[in-house]
Amino acid sequence: MMSPRVSCTCVLVVHLIVVITGLLIADGTALTIEHSKKQRKACAPTPFPKIKGPRSKHDKIAIIGAGPSGIHMAYRLKEEGYTSVTVFEKNDYIGGKSKTLQHRGVPHEMGTVYTQPEYTEIYNLITKFNAGNLLPMPEPDVWVNENSPVFLSSLENSIRILQNLRPNVTTSVGTGIILQNIIDYVTLHQKMFGIYKGVMPRPCPAVLSQVNMTFGEFLRINNLDGLRGILLSSQTIQGYGKVDEISALYGMIWTTPYFLSEIVKPVAPRDRVVKILSKGFQFLWEEIARQSKLKVKLSSSVKKVSRLKQGRGFYVKYRHGRRLRCEKFDFLITSPMMKSMSDVIRFEPEVHELFKKSFNYYYTTTFGGY
Ligand SMILES: Cc1cc2nc3c(=O)[nH]c(=O)nc-3n(C[C@H](O)[C@H](O)[C@H](O)COP(=O)(O)OP(=O)(O)OC[C@H]3O[C@@H](n4cnc5c(N)ncnc54)[C@H](O)[C@@H]3O)c2cc1C
Repeated sequence: MMSPRVSCTCVLVVHLIVVITGLLIADGTALTIEHSKKQRKACAPTPFPKIKGPRSKHDKIAIIGAGPSGIHMAYRLKEEGYTSVTVFEKNDYIGGKSKTLQHRGVPHEMGTVYTQPEYTEIYNLITKFNAGNLLPMPEPDVWVNENSPVFLSSLENSIRILQNLRPNVTTSVGTGIILQNIIDYVTLHQKMFGIYKGVMPRPCPAVLSQVNMTFGEFLRINNLDGLRGILLSSQTIQGYGKVDEISALYGMIWTTPYFLSEIVKPVAPRDRVVKILSKGFQFLWEEIARQSKLKVKLSSSVKKVSRLKQGRGFYVKYRHGRRLRCEKFDFLITSPMMKSMSDVIRFEPEVHELFKKSFNYYYTTTFGGY
């Protein structure tokens, strides 16, 4: 028999999900934005400026890093007809933080794990390169003590996190707060950034000033602390940082209204929108590189990039084994963390200033046999 607590939770979930879905109907009718037309125009988001690409299809292009960005960029350039693209990778493998360990025929993800519903480009690549199947995300098991793996749904987990902040909140009140916070977040996000597909357009200055803080502060100011549990799994565990340390804008670029409402929908396990790859994520990038015949120089750590004193172009100095080598290129693309690149490239002082404060965390993943 269903316990009263669970049944109450379910009713609330169903009711509020209906409301969320109503909010998200993108034909404009269901939108509850109260901006006047004049206000909206003054604060309309604008597309980000385009970066000038290489001048000719035969320019020599260097890409630093054979992680997902570097491999995807090299593949796209090749598709566009660029004839000379070289990827430098300091490790002896392709994939960067998309690293999969194969154990007894089962892929274990050490970095990138899940896809989410807006990963259309990734889905296209998986099909095009025949890189396995998409499987629904399995339920996580949480070991509360060593004898009993206990399943905590993300809602239950979120309620526990909320109760840490507000000890007097009961389960049913906590459920209501979390779901109301989802609706408020969706409304606020659409009000601030508009409704868009793909990459978020550049917000207007007034909106930028409202997000000039950490994501955690933004949640606090807007009474959205009930989202902390969901964001722990959708943001922090995915490797995108802790809400109290990342910028609000960065957090809101990733946590779109669509993503948030999709991950909390109560659906059967096979219909979950968050998926994993049957052959692992690293396999996808390896297959793209192999099938597209990309030129990837593994174990080649780029040490210095210097501009030509005369004319245009760069020298890329890299270490391969014991040898230090140098090659000339016309166009450079970098994918590693900007801070690590400031040892390699001499940035303009303001660019250097912008990235020097960034830092990274180390997460550990472990897997065991049965
Ligand atoms: C634990 C964890 C879990 C994650 N889970 C998910 C998830 O579920 N879903 C999801 O979408 N994303 C997830 N991510 C994030 C995802 O892995 C990253 O967004 C993605 O790997 C970024 O790709 P990238 O190519 O930009 O950078 P990276 O993967 O970091 O690749 C950069 C590459 O540059 C190389 N490099 C660095 N310096 C040099 C140099 N001087 N010379 C040559 N090469 C260099 C590095 O070795 C690396 O291969 C997760 C990340 C982590 C850490």
